[in-house]
Amino acid sequence: MIEHALRRRDGGAGPGADAVGSLAARLRGAAVGPADPAYDGARTIYNAMHAGRRPGLIVQAADVADVIAAVTFARDHDLALAVRGGSHNVTGFSTCDDGLVLDLKRMKGIRVDTARGTVRAEGGVTWGDMDHATHPFGFAVPGGVVSTTGIAGLTLGGGMGHLTRRGGLSCDNLVSADMVLADGRFVTCDAEHEPELFWAIRGGGGNFGVVTAFEYRAQQVSSVLGGPVFYRPDPAVFRAWEALLADAGTDLQALFAFTMAPAAPFLPEAWHGKAVMAVVACWSGAESEDARIAAALGGLGEVIGQALWRMPYPQINTLFDGALPYGMQHYWRANVVHDVPDAALAAHIEHGARTPHPASGTFLFPIDGACHRLRPGDTAFPHRTARYSVIFSGSWPDPADNDANTAWVKAYETALRPYSEAGGYINFMSDADDMRVRANYGANHARLRAAKTKYDPHNLFRLNQNILPA
Ligand code: FAD
Repeated sequence: MIEHALRRRDGGAGPGADAVGSLAARLRGAAVGPADPAYDGARTIYNAMHAGRRPGLIVQAADVADVIAAVTFARDHDLALAVRGGSHNVTGFSTCDDGLVLDLKRMKGIRVDTARGTVRAEGGVTWGDMDHATHPFGFAVPGGVVSTTGIAGLTLGGGMGHLTRRGGLSCDNLVSADMVLADGRFVTCDAEHEPELFWAIRGGGGNFGVVTAFEYRAQQVSSVLGGPVFYRPDPAVFRAWEALLADAGTDLQALFAFTMAPAAPFLPEAWHGKAVMAVVACWSGAESEDARIAAALGGLGEVIGQALWRMPYPQINTLFDGALPYGMQHYWRANVVHDVPDAALAAHIEHGARTPHPASGTFLFPIDGACHRLRPGDTAFPHRTARYSVIFSGSWPDPADNDANTAWVKAYETALRPYSEAGGYINFMSDADDMRVRANYGANHARLRAAKTKYDPHNLFRLNQNILPA
């Protein structure tokens, strides 16, 4: 018998032991309740700020049939349902109290189709798994910059990283998706089948069902020139970086950071813990151009230290891993901007100088290039004319520092808000009230609401940046 602590969403008593036992008996994966020795490990998610959350039951699905069983069970018993891919969502949507967590981490199948140039990957795959599987074929799917992040949540919200300017967002490379809907049906959506669902999941988050497998178009990328370059803070560095992006073409991606110098061996000790500017570059163009790109990066300003080298593509997605292990506290805010006027740059420099921890910082992700080939209404992801997606990211180890760090993020983002568009990238936000979600989607919100009303009219999938059904 499985002990569980499930309660209905209205707080009423959850399903009986027989019902839970019958669910568990049907699974190829596992059902983990609070009495199980595996429970504490199974309920852990990436952001330790949510370490106190206690789901009533965790289903670790092994296949699509398990997903159908868990979705149907949550719906029939009126349980809160948290769907989990890589568990990186900083808001804590991939866990809950008293409800059911559907964790796809056992679903790790990946198949590379070299003839079609596509990759099919199951919902529990991380970007590290993806890079591992695609690299031997000389392929890469545009993903995020930390290898432990799940492909699922990242793709459904948009997905930006080192190949964004060259290949577009992760969701732009989606060819089809296998999904289990709120009514328990299994569908495959693509441009021809369930096209409205396919439109909605490319930026609309986890609102529409559980994606059991994603099929992507792959880029041919094997190795890149990449890594960080740190500079003495100076507004001219930022302007030179903007000019370089415009000149170098879309094979250059380069994130800009206002942050604190880490105690890295390639940085002089005198700079450790001091405010710096940094560019994290990824040149996926010809190797013969490496020296030119490296020289251009070195010419952006006074370089304090750098660690640029040609590396296998998977490696560049691990550069932040060491600084951002599981178990840290995270509080983030986000906006998107068309440009950065001088007053905004001055505010970045002022607040960046107060970065409280070296794992924290404000990063500008360029989202021009291939992203701008689509129009705001082509997918649910709406920001097709903005140049930068900005993340104000607070990440620190000690819960005693929560107030100081969240206050820094809030003050920083508030200072920059006058220069921002109405919305922000949903995957970089920790506060997800309805108005901010609406503002983010702008003209796409009404269409998303119509899709939500069709595919999830009772809002079973509500632990996300929620689109309310009509
Ligand atoms: P989870 O917490 O497992 O899932 C997040 C949400 O996605 C869930 O609440 C659910 O609503 C939905 N979901 C998950 N799986 C499924 C599924 N199979 N079917 C349907 N819905 C599902 N974003 C970027 O774009 N680029 C980056 O470079 C980047 N770097 C990051 C680095 C770190 C350290 C962290 C913590 C986050 C980063 N992000 C980045 C943000 C990231 O996109 C979001 O946190 C995203 O939600 C992570 O997806 P996940 O599957 O790991 O998360």
